[in-house]
This record gives sequence, C-alpha cells and structure tokens, in this order.
Amino acid sequence: MEYETAKIVKVTGKCPACEDYAGKNSTTPPKIAVMACEGACARGEVARRAANMVAHRLARDSTVRICLGGAFTKDTGQRNLVRRAEKVIAIEGCFINCSSRMMCGVIPELRPEIVRADLIYNLDLPFGIDDVPDEMFTVYAHLVAEQVVKNLGNPAPCRGDPGSQSPCPSAAGPPAHSAGCGK
Ligand code: SF4
Repeated sequence: MEYETAKIVKVTGKCPACEDYAGKNSTTPPKIAVMACEGACARGEVARRAANMVAHRLARDSTVRICLGGAFTKDTGQRNLVRRAEKVIAIEGCFINCSSRMMCGVIPELRPEIVRADLIYNLDLPFGIDDVPDEMFTVYAHLVAEQVVKNLGNPAPCRGDPGSQSPCPSAAGPPAHSAGCGK
C-alpha cells in the first residue's frame, strides 16, 4: 500500500467549546464515536447531517460526535474520544473514505466501521449543495442515520489485529458496515 505523508503544524491553543464537549462526553464506558466526511460537496453534506442526527438526536446517550478537523490536526480531547472509543463509526460521503483514512493516519490501530452514505440513499448527487433542495438533504441524511442507529449494537471491528496486513481502509475501502474480526 502507498501512503500520503503530511506534516501538520502544531497549535498551542485549544478550542474551548470543542474541548468542553469532548470532556463532557469522555464517559466510562466510552461512547461510540461518530465521525463523518464533512466534505464540501452534496455527498459530504449528507454524511455530515447524518452524523449530527445520530449523535445529537437519535442516539445522543450512546454516541459522541467527533470534530474530524480537530481530531485529525491535534492530539487533544477529540482525538482522545476516538482513541478510547470501543467502536468508531465513519459515515463516508463517497468511496474516498476521507474521515476513516484521515483518522487512521493519526491512530494507526483504528478499525472504524465504515458506513458509505451514498450507497444507502443510492443516488449520484452533484457536487454543489445549492443543486440539492434542503429538504432532500434531510430525507437522505435521515435514511443514513436510521441505518447507523439500527446497527449500533453490532460488534466493532477489532483493533490492532496482528494478522491484519491492512490496518486502515484504502480509498476503495471495505464494504459498507464492515465489522467484526473475521476470526
Ligand atoms: S471526499 Fe467525496 S463526499 Fe467528501 S467532499 Fe470529497 S467528493 Fe464529496
């Protein structure tokens, strides 16, 4: 497998709102961490909204919403939520699998459960979010969020499996809802 290499400039400051949320949600046992593509396009918008629906409405007691940019670019509360979660769900906008690939770059042993949002609502959305009616975003995101919630109780993919040659997803990625150790 080939890798991208990036140097990320460290920051000394912290975002108080983000750290406060992370601290409040750093429970024992840990909550299920929900991250998303957060991309600029319509597919990323569905993934982002679906993650918000899961963590802030449909399963707010058992899940916590991850700030992908915060967790990826600095080793503070948000990354810790991902690191200590027994299950991490990555709602991806498309096959690029950006959220799971990003987080596997900073937590190599991570085994996120990948949910391909575009395969659930099953439409080829355009790039621009202004080309999709707002109410349709809600419909698509709800379809994705409902499926995520339905599968919350499924076992998490195993971390650090020494037999695994491919600890992180590639851009083609494992199938949606890939889970379990394969043992
Ligand atoms: S990674 Fe895919 S879903 Fe995310 S913004 Fe880019 S094209 Fe959209």
